[in-house]
Amino acid sequence: MTLFMKKLLIGISSPLVLFLVYSLWNWDSSPPTVQWREAPSVIGMDSQISLEIQDQGKGLQWLEVAWVRSGDRHVVVSETYEAPWSWQQGMTQRSLDLSVGSSLPESILSEGEFLLEVRVRDQSDLWFWENEVFEQRSFNLDLTPPRIQTLSDQHYIRQGGSEAILYKVSEDTVASGVQVGEHLFRGYPLPGRGQGTHVCLFALAHDQAPATAMYVWAEDAAGNRNQTSFWKRAFPVKFRKRNIQLSESMINAVVPEILAHTDMTLGESVLETFLEINGRLREINHRQIEEISRQSVGHLLWSGAFLQLSNSQVESAFADHRTYYYKSQKVDQQTHLGFDLATVAHGAVESANDGIVVFADYLGIYGNTVLVDHGLGLISLYGHLSSIEVQEGQGITKGAILGRTGQTGLAAGDHLHFSMILQGVQVNPLEWWDERWVDQHILGKALVATEEGEESRRGAADLFDPS
Ligand SMILES: [Zn+2]
Repeated sequence: MTLFMKKLLIGISSPLVLFLVYSLWNWDSSPPTVQWREAPSVIGMDSQISLEIQDQGKGLQWLEVAWVRSGDRHVVVSETYEAPWSWQQGMTQRSLDLSVGSSLPESILSEGEFLLEVRVRDQSDLWFWENEVFEQRSFNLDLTPPRIQTLSDQHYIRQGGSEAILYKVSEDTVASGVQVGEHLFRGYPLPGRGQGTHVCLFALAHDQAPATAMYVWAEDAAGNRNQTSFWKRAFPVKFRKRNIQLSESMINAVVPEILAHTDMTLGESVLETFLEINGRLREINHRQIEEISRQSVGHLLWSGAFLQLSNSQVESAFADHRTYYYKSQKVDQQTHLGFDLATVAHGAVESANDGIVVFADYLGIYGNTVLVDHGLGLISLYGHLSSIEVQEGQGITKGAILGRTGQTGLAAGDHLHFSMILQGVQVNPLEWWDERWVDQHILGKALVATEEGEESRRGAADLFDPS
């Protein structure tokens, strides 16, 4: 071969080799992927559909998302991305959050099946080869809120008090209950009382006005919400005012113990630390209690009136408004949400009713504490114990010994702090100690729902229990 021929061959082949190397370098063998991160099969106006679109190769070139219904096609998203330089990657990832309400045009907005189509293409290779992916999913649009029918007819409630309501909701309901101002109470199904029948125990908090709005609410899987008012009378209650004198010795006695058991640290002075405990820790503890009461079992575990600690003397009552003085200076104000009951030092503490122990440990301002779940969101609290004699998960009958009274936590002397909590709201135990009230307001309501008209008051509590 002559030198000229060799040069000619190299001259021809070099661009070809370069072209092949360049093309292989740029070869995008992976098509784009479409991932449905959030795609509920039943959707409502407030539902959201989330998509994640990715391309591992040179990146995305073009993307289109459209709603389709019986021939009508409505493009929601249409985007084109710039081609990257050969040594770069383009747009490799696109997250889309589609709101059903704002992406569906009014012209095709009616209940029924919709398709959401996703078309996506990646950047080309060899100037002509590109991957295109097509995906679609069907969604059922539901715009009809669940139906609600109230079954119980009279509801009398006091500030700091409790009440029960019976209602029926349509089959599509996934959650329901009673709303009282900003407090949301969950209702529970009453098995054997007819399809959709629910019971909800609810409360008007001690600091909520009698005029606070109350209604039954129900929500379906598509997020459609309905609410209806019900017949009620709400009454104001005048709570007591009490002055508390804080002594240096009392503060010095309680602060170190609480610091040793919690995340709280010593502030600038012992008094300041005490006030932190009395304010901030109190709030933290109430949130912990609320969390536990929301895990309550879905049926009544108890019967009859709740027990007040035997032979006990009331030292403080529910919702006492306390003003704290230290060296004749007003230093704090708090509301005492429970009863302080005194018997003898290290006296036996009985469970107020049947239930399950859901907490048995140190709980901030309440010291050694036992919480008993009574079902339907109702729990009782036993605080300041010197010893705990039960374990979490243990079934308890009315009157069973939970532990001994003491003065752990924020307590000046040996006593029992007793509280009742309904789905996070502290309620007045006086009502629950009263058999007549319990019958009329809670257990009696079960009879209303008895379609066969059984009049057995004795069996009222059993109606709540599915087992
Ligand atoms: Zn107390």
